[in-house]
Amino acid sequence: MVPPSDQHGLLLVVAGPSGVGKSTIARLLEERTKVWYTVSVTTRGRKPGEEKGKTYEHIDKTEFFRRLDADGYLEYAQVYGDYYATPVHPTIDLLSEGKDVLLEIDVQGSLQVRDAFPEAVLIFILPPDQETLLRRLNDRGRDVADDIQKRFRAARREIAMARGSRAFDYMVINDKLETAVEEIIKIIHLKRVGGI
Ligand code: ADP
Ligand code: 5GP
Repeated sequence: MVPPSDQHGLLLVVAGPSGVGKSTIARLLEERTKVWYTVSVTTRGRKPGEEKGKTYEHIDKTEFFRRLDADGYLEYAQVYGDYYATPVHPTIDLLSEGKDVLLEIDVQGSLQVRDAFPEAVLIFILPPDQETLLRRLNDRGRDVADDIQKRFRAARREIAMARGSRAFDYMVINDKLETAVEEIIKIIHLKRVGGI
């Protein structure tokens, strides 16, 4: 964890259960707004379709904790048995240059961001219902059955944790993708002084 910076850009956090559509939404926000989407590090192995260094930087546990000791992370958490973190750079640099940054992270990491960056805008994405979430996890075709079950079982707990924490500024239901993206773009406009 790093102390709050002299933050100028908008720090936007998008969280929600696996398969709810966070990455899909984040990619569209990156295309349609000026938000920067940074790459997380993870100890989870690379899955088919994940391009090297594009979705994540995959590192082993030793390297993960070496970096934690050396530079710290903006936030980090253990999720579904693996470690995930947002490196301090380039996020802090982009913010201090006045750029808006989007983090796509889990609830535990979101709570750390809430503490360190009171001005951050936290959005939690909800599925329209459980069946849809399970269908999306399956349709994505990325995870083996065990991983899908692990992620689906965690969803209820994550939603309860997000609601109970009161840390999130907005809850957005990702039913129709376009509607969800438009809703988030409106939030960005609202929160960013001067618009995007
Ligand atoms: P996450 O990043 O939250 O784990 P993804 O963005 O990978 O989720 O989305 C999981 C799957 O659901 C993908 O196949 C994606 O194309 C699909 N998806 C996302 N949003 C919608 C939506 N609103 N309607 C239908 N399918 C969606
Ligand atoms: P997946 O393995 O399905 O890609 O991601 C698992 C979970 O880890 C998702 O909830 C995702 O949002 C979260 N995650 C991805 N990157 C980070 C990160 O940098 N920090 C934290 N705390 N969670 C992350």
